[in-house]
Amino acid sequence: MFPPFVYEALPSRVVFGAGSLQKLPEEIDKLGAARALVLCTPEQRAIAADVVMMLGARSAGVFDNAAMHVPAQVADAARDKARRVRADCCVAIGGGSTTGLAKAIALTSRLPILAIPTTYAGSEMTPIWGITEGGVKKTGRDVLVLPKTVIYDPALTTSLPVALSVTSGINAIAHCVEALYSRDANPIISLIAEEGIRALAGGLREVAKQPGNVDARSRVLYGAWLGGVSLGAVGMALHHKLCHTLGGSFRLPHAETHTVVLPHAVAYNASAAPEALERIARALGAPSAAPGLYDLAVSLGAPVSLESLGMRRQQLDQAADLAVQNPYYNPRPVTRRGVRQLLENAFQGRLN
Ligand code: NAD
Repeated sequence: MFPPFVYEALPSRVVFGAGSLQKLPEEIDKLGAARALVLCTPEQRAIAADVVMMLGARSAGVFDNAAMHVPAQVADAARDKARRVRADCCVAIGGGSTTGLAKAIALTSRLPILAIPTTYAGSEMTPIWGITEGGVKKTGRDVLVLPKTVIYDPALTTSLPVALSVTSGINAIAHCVEALYSRDANPIISLIAEEGIRALAGGLREVAKQPGNVDARSRVLYGAWLGGVSLGAVGMALHHKLCHTLGGSFRLPHAETHTVVLPHAVAYNASAAPEALERIARALGAPSAAPGLYDLAVSLGAPVSLESLGMRRQQLDQAADLAVQNPYYNPRPVTRRGVRQLLENAFQGRLN
């Protein structure tokens, strides 16, 4: 069957390749901007300082306090700084947390964003923003926050430790996986998503052996880009919902949680999305999708149980309650009993 579909392309300019950070000044000019506020986490001050040097007179300063999940007070401080230094664009160099901060600024100021991702989270390709206040993360979609230009320089990712590279890369695989069985799935995004899984799985196997290999890093970053496109274009399902709940309510780490939950979410959906699962397996080069994802994580030395991430058995019931609280799309109906079993398996790191 060839079902009808809607496909909407999101506008963004991508500059890809080792060494492409050097193109930053000309890319700022192309944006029509002249005073860039550079954003980073405290851990990435050194690379942000290099960016400021490279920008010269085009730099309006640095805000180096980006933090996980964009705390509201950090967003307010960054917005304040952007106003004070009369910035006309933001350059976000870092992972999803730093891109998220640029989005918070863009949401209220309309400042254009130039993103330079150094992880595989994919936020730079989505119009999704999130801000955390009083322990609650509010999220929304607004094309205003979609970065106008993205510079993907794989050389910047060689410093990402292997463990973080693996979990961040599997987080990107999760975007591709759920795009393949999304309610809004369409042939273009499915092509992108399948290719994304292929590039990420193949590239990660090489990165785990040779973290400094720029070719391998390029392949993974290319896959991460495709993962971000998939996440930005179509709705996600049970896997992302569960990870959001586990991260938000039990403070589990973002990329690691995605890594542990993914094979279980895919196993849950196996009977309801056979074509998507066939494509996932094909891209992994595995006989079937869920075991293929599980084996990938094991072979890369990634965590496979929620227990190893610090979750406690007593929290599983509450997690299952929260995960079924608001109805959302999933190929297989989401039941309390089904989710509780999924969580049990993920807790133990045992794939049924
Ligand atoms: P992160 O941005 O929090 O980075 C984790 C740590 O790694 C930070 O200390 C950072 O400074 C460091 N780091 C980043 N790149 C590095 C490098 N190349 N070398 C050494 N250290 C490096 O982690 P993340 O996984 O990229 O992002 C997670 C956040 O992004 C979550 O809050 C998640 O909700 C959000 N996210 C949002 C979207 C979206 O579409 N809005 C998509 C994906 C993720």
